[in-house]
Amino acid sequence: MASSLELGIEFSHIALVANCKDKFEATVEFYSSLGLSTVRRVTHDRVQRDIGHENNIISEAWLHLFVSRPENSVTLRIIHVEGESLQCESSSDAIRICLATPEIKVCSETDTGSTMQCLFPWGHTFTIHADPNYPVDRVATRDPLGNELFFTPHANTFSIPSSPEIKPVGVELKPDPGTFDLSEKPVQKNIGILTSGGDAQGMNPCVRAVVRMAIARKCRPFFIYEGYQGLVDGGDKIKQAKWTDVSGFLTSGGTMIGTARCKEFREIEGRRTGVYNLIKKGIDALVVIGGDGSLTGADKLRAEWPDHVAALEKDGRISKEDANKYRTLMIVGMVGSIDNDLASTDMTIGACSALERICESVDAILSTAMSHQRAFVVEVMGRHCGWLALNAAISTGADYLFIPEAPPKDDWEESMCKTLKASRDAGKRTSLVIVAEGALDRNLNPIKPDYIKDILSTRLGYDTRVTILGHVQRGGAPAHFDRFLGTMQGAEAIEAILRATPDTPSPVIGMLENKITTQPLKEAIELTGQVAQAIESKDFARAMALRSASFSKQLTSYKEIANFNPDSKMKLPQEKRLRIAILHAGAPAGGMNTATRSAVRLCINRGHTPLGVHNGFPGLMRGEISELDWLSVDGWTIAGGSKLGTNRDQPTPQMGAVAYQLQKHNVQALMVIGGFEAFTAVLELARNRDQYPAFNIPMVLVPATVSNNVPGTEFSLGSDTASNVIVRSTDMIKQSASSNRRRVFVIEVQGGNCGYLAVMAGLSGGSTTVYTPEEGVDLTRLQRDITHLRTRYIKELGRSEGRVTLCNENASKIYSTEMIAKIYEAESGGFYGARTSVLGHLQQGGTPSPLDRCRANTMAVDSINWLQSRCWEAMEIPNEDNIRLPSDQLKRKYFPRVYSNTPDTAAVIGVIGSEVRFTPIKDLVAHTDFGRRVPRTIWWGASRQLVDILSGVGVDIENGGCTTEYKSCAIDLTADDLMRLYGQHRRLSKLDVNIP
Ligand code: ADP
Repeated sequence: MASSLELGIEFSHIALVANCKDKFEATVEFYSSLGLSTVRRVTHDRVQRDIGHENNIISEAWLHLFVSRPENSVTLRIIHVEGESLQCESSSDAIRICLATPEIKVCSETDTGSTMQCLFPWGHTFTIHADPNYPVDRVATRDPLGNELFFTPHANTFSIPSSPEIKPVGVELKPDPGTFDLSEKPVQKNIGILTSGGDAQGMNPCVRAVVRMAIARKCRPFFIYEGYQGLVDGGDKIKQAKWTDVSGFLTSGGTMIGTARCKEFREIEGRRTGVYNLIKKGIDALVVIGGDGSLTGADKLRAEWPDHVAALEKDGRISKEDANKYRTLMIVGMVGSIDNDLASTDMTIGACSALERICESVDAILSTAMSHQRAFVVEVMGRHCGWLALNAAISTGADYLFIPEAPPKDDWEESMCKTLKASRDAGKRTSLVIVAEGALDRNLNPIKPDYIKDILSTRLGYDTRVTILGHVQRGGAPAHFDRFLGTMQGAEAIEAILRATPDTPSPVIGMLENKITTQPLKEAIELTGQVAQAIESKDFARAMALRSASFSKQLTSYKEIANFNPDSKMKLPQEKRLRIAILHAGAPAGGMNTATRSAVRLCINRGHTPLGVHNGFPGLMRGEISELDWLSVDGWTIAGGSKLGTNRDQPTPQMGAVAYQLQKHNVQALMVIGGFEAFTAVLELARNRDQYPAFNIPMVLVPATVSNNVPGTEFSLGSDTASNVIVRSTDMIKQSASSNRRRVFVIEVQGGNCGYLAVMAGLSGGSTTVYTPEEGVDLTRLQRDITHLRTRYIKELGRSEGRVTLCNENASKIYSTEMIAKIYEAESGGFYGARTSVLGHLQQGGTPSPLDRCRANTMAVDSINWLQSRCWEAMEIPNEDNIRLPSDQLKRKYFPRVYSNTPDTAAVIGVIGSEVRFTPIKDLVAHTDFGRRVPRTIWWGASRQLVDILSGVGVDIENGGCTTEYKSCAIDLTADDLMRLYGQHRRLSKLDVNIP
């Protein structure tokens, strides 16, 4: 045996004896994990008698701690002996060792936290001891041989501790088993969750919300892996889900619990086996996330359940007791589908992210198409549903579109060529055609991209390429909206289960009018089936009616602005044509340019004159007004910022100059696109109508601000783009925090005095908590959050996920972002550090999100329609012979051609639910807090509570249950409601909004 001298090591400080190979290896690994290096390792050919001892050594390892100060170096000998060890320093009686923390290589600091971090990647249990001899707590653990190992910040390395009096004072902290493991506790329900059919981004956030909400509501969630296949296979495919199992789910596309297409489940026997497996696991509610096929399967399972239970009992596979206990099964469906093809929901989980993927690809294609003056035919997904294709066409400014619900007229080839040629003749360098994969002609023949390409190449001679986007549309991280939708619906699925009585019909969770709804699964599936039937029977009007309320409107407006129509039938008679000015005010926001482009193109096609006002109200005062033509706005669909130029200045100081310019340029209608500044500006113009006749024209405000704080709308342009920017940034910052293992980021986001952005991005980015101006920040809040963070970082030491909290820029005058981070760190007990990140103007820039582009288009088209109608109403010239004109009408005669001074002609256009609504700006005054620059009513309160619940801050960790109250926000719709909504009525008072 080589002596320690031969190895250059003077002696071994201590020898540890293992009497089995596993323990020997585990001990070597344990000390290696603390930074000791193996300097020698031998397995002896024949057993060796240990010098001075009775041990028969089989193998041995010498580990050395290389340190800067030689006197602190340590050599450790671990020996594997035959049978019982007879005698040595450690022997079977465990010894107590002290190891100097500063000398552990992997530790950079000397605090308790870093020591524990060394221990935790390997899942070692540790305790904290108060040591009367030292001012700091000491950490202790046991090596695999049972020796007790203390860590001390003092350089008395590897000695047996002199003070035997050290007593554990802390709670024994075990490696976190995933926490909230309620396996031994009584629960309200056992809930199975599966994802099935085609995967969709947003399924994972939905699974996360179901699992965490279930635990928070004292239920026990179970993953069912691989969709219905897991249900049929049972066994390991059905496994209890723990809180930490869904960490990281928010950011992942696809589905982490797997999906499959399962043939057996289509057969009655397969479903029966599934029922058996559910009962055996004690599952009494099932959450299914999938497309229409999966939900059809779920509906069958629901309908057949009692028969299956009876048959299983009859066959003796389940007991009578079980048969009684599981007489009904509550199934809750959620639509995970990129196609957005379920009739009774405006949006399905995944559709928005797929749209984002399409737009990213098409935006990229367009830049190359421009260079070569090429035509591109792009096929997008959507079996029987043209939602993706339509919204992609609007968002990318495509020239032509084919969708299944609205087949083109016969001889569409000719009309397509004519249309594309007109745009090229007007100077456009590219042509873009979008085709839904299920596109049909009126005879139900598929319209395929290659055929379109041939037409464009042969008839127009265009260099045409086909791109079939395929599975790229399903991939990538979910967009903010899908995370939001999946999360809200997932939480409401649990609420629906807990609300249900045995007679409650199984629901599907949907979203109508921007409200989470529950609707009977059976009827929702039937309605969806009707779309395919309507198309098959060529009843295209019915197929359109079964889509969301906005679908056909979007299609009409798309057709009006997609192409340049030099002498089309769309042109209005000369006397109805108007001069409409468009102005941007306030900070830039995604979608301002898109809205401007849509407005300009619609104006041009109808014969109106669109006037661009440059540089906001100061520009207007200076007369910076020019006519915008078709090509000047080409490419504005995807352009971020403000192409016209914008600033926060108000018209108030120089009302006269504003009036003068409006009159000089004969502006007959005004469209202002902007945020709260634009709101107050339009309000001031309307208030000053008496003084300045030029202001007596119809005026509309199109809300555009990242803060989403304009009264009269649920969404302003730019708020979705900004939410996406924050969520993407949060993902990256979290990744950095995760790598560090013990870091919290406090991220400051914009929003003025409105917490919307913080809450939305907090929910979809997985923020631990959010600080908003509505709630403010106080010490009690901070204390609660710090206690939570400390506990989590202690429990997850060495393998902690990164954490972020979002702080609105105006959440508190005293507790700034910087200060919150400092308090976090000061109170961390050394278990984590805190950093700040201020996202700033990143949030106002970048390419607008597809959702903002689509909203911009809708708002612009509706605004032009509204301005036009209001102008025409105000253009009725009174009878010249009537000498007793009221003063209003006199003004109308002698001043501008359009004269409108009624309050309803100065309005804010709002997206409220799926509707677009014009509210007179005067009526919004009572609903506005001008001091804080926010609307008095908010619709997103429920989301705020969910942030805290799903991060765990608002949950009782030890016992389950929420400490933050969640008030379900879902609206329950009955089968009758659905029939009314999709029959003649198209309206439901239940879904009416409560914001003005
Ligand atoms: P999606 O849910 O995305 O529409 P599919 O139509 O492929 O996807 O359905 C997914 C799975 O749902 C199928 O593999 C099958 O197991 C089940 N399923 C679909 N339709 C039915 C049905 N009519 N009856 C029973 N199970 C069905």
